[in-house]
Amino acid sequence: MAGKRKVTLIPGDGIGPSIVEAATAVMEAAGALVEWDVHEAGEKVMEKFGTPLPEEVLENIRENVVAFKGPVTTPVGGGFRSVNVELRKKLELFACVRPAFSIEGVRSPYKDIDIVVVRENLEDLYSGIEHMVTPDVAESIKVITRKGSERIVRFAFEYALKFSRKKVTAVHKANIMKLSDGLFLETAREVSKDYPEIELEERIVDNMAMQLVQKPHLYDVLVLPNLYGDIMSDLCAGLVGGLGIAPSSNMGYDELAVFEPAHGSAPKYTGLDKVNPTAQILSGYLMLLHIGQYDAAERVLEGVKKVIGEGKVVTYDLGGNAGTSEMARAIIDAIESM
Ligand code: NAD
Repeated sequence: MAGKRKVTLIPGDGIGPSIVEAATAVMEAAGALVEWDVHEAGEKVMEKFGTPLPEEVLENIRENVVAFKGPVTTPVGGGFRSVNVELRKKLELFACVRPAFSIEGVRSPYKDIDIVVVRENLEDLYSGIEHMVTPDVAESIKVITRKGSERIVRFAFEYALKFSRKKVTAVHKANIMKLSDGLFLETAREVSKDYPEIELEERIVDNMAMQLVQKPHLYDVLVLPNLYGDIMSDLCAGLVGGLGIAPSSNMGYDELAVFEPAHGSAPKYTGLDKVNPTAQILSGYLMLLHIGQYDAAERVLEGVKKVIGEGKVVTYDLGGNAGTSEMARAIIDAIESM
């Protein structure tokens, strides 16, 4: 297929296949030139191949460089390890980027928010180094490295440059964790010297949480170690209306990137054609920006804004009673009438 960009497509589990179908149809209507290279990961593959993430899927993503993914199920407690964690580790997707922007028509106490959360994805308390010191004392090790801090802060500044943003806020708790968060902060100060046109601001994480609730408009790009980033990215999604509309991307070296919604596979809604496809569709918007298909990306965003703004054909979480496919159809109609 000449002119088309090949992208790995992982439909996922639960609601994944239906929202992925909705998103790919919307992107196609918007004129995206993409050839989908479909590969399965998650529960279904576990049953078939004994692993939720076969090596050939990883190879395929490395080859295509970009993947578009639906959410996958991870069993709580026992069972297999999270496909998402494995993907991030094996492909060294060190940056999780979660833009949180207001869409008119979504119920929220805030308007005109435009924050991008850049979360370190591989270190910190998520390194998986845990042990029992005695039967009654457990320890988890927080790992922060200069290399890990440098690449995530540089990524945040490069992102700010690319998207004409003015300020990067480094979020930390270096007043208490003087060595680990201290190293993150010291590295942020060092890296910021290479970007004199972008302001570096520093915030202690608890103050950051309060400020985001009280004065979210003051913030632009946030860069955080893994745990604070995990929490603050959901907080920011909450500011603009919740996970149903929150897109996300996991990025690594050399443009390697996996785009997916921030929410999970919501198994109880499987096959009901009920959930909101917006987070998946907006993940497609981010993917199109990443691969340089700017016009198609813009049309996807405008279609979503139009349908949500009108508020007539939207899913239950947005106050309507349309189904997944019906809302996607309305977005396609909106794009086709532009
Ligand atoms: P979830 O996000 O799947 O669902 C929580 C609740 O949020 C749902 O019950 C539903 O009420 C609501 N919700 C989620 N997506 C929605 C949508 N698009 N539209 C409307 N409402 C929506 O979280 P969970 O129940 O904690 O996790 C379910 C499974 O998803 C678990 O196996 C978990 O490991 C997995 N998960 C996967 C990813 C991923 O693949 N990236 C991310 C998070 C969770």
